[in-house]
Amino acid sequence: MVAPIPPAVCDDPRGHNVKYFLRDCSGMVNCPKCTKDGLVVEKITVANHAKESCWPLGDETYYHCENPDCEVIYFTASGSRPLKISDIKTRVTFKERTSPRPLCYCKQVTEEDVINAIEGGAANVDEVRNITGIGGGGHCKFTNPAGRCCSRNYKPFIDLELKKRGKGGSDGIPMIVK
Ligand SMILES: [Zn+2]
Repeated sequence: MVAPIPPAVCDDPRGHNVKYFLRDCSGMVNCPKCTKDGLVVEKITVANHAKESCWPLGDETYYHCENPDCEVIYFTASGSRPLKISDIKTRVTFKERTSPRPLCYCKQVTEEDVINAIEGGAANVDEVRNITGIGGGGHCKFTNPAGRCCSRNYKPFIDLELKKRGKGGSDGIPMIVK
């Protein structure tokens, strides 16, 4: 009898094709500022979003802090030089308090775009997608500062905004990550 596999608590981007992990599979490291678990990100993701003033990025593995209340975006295991919001060129969805808040980086769709689509008549996720183009970009490793599929950002948001207006359904959005 094999114990049930826990939900995907580890989002190591190197394992995009793996649905479930154990927590220790990617050697998770805590954010030096907020002490929450960080998610491994590839150097190319950090390089794409960090300002040139942060160069060189060095050889350490970088982790992404997703805590909305923490100003750190990327950090390394040594904690020697965390990259904060002010070090990053890209607006990071969960760290931003003001609009525009990006939802889908590949297709450059914001929360406001989605709300406008719904208020303009979109009654379900497919219609939101048709109007805004959200999802399916497939370049999240480069465009999303978390280095992972943007559907984690936009699916819950669209669901919530539809529900608020008595609409619904989230089927049909493909989750494409390269
Ligand atoms: Zn943090």
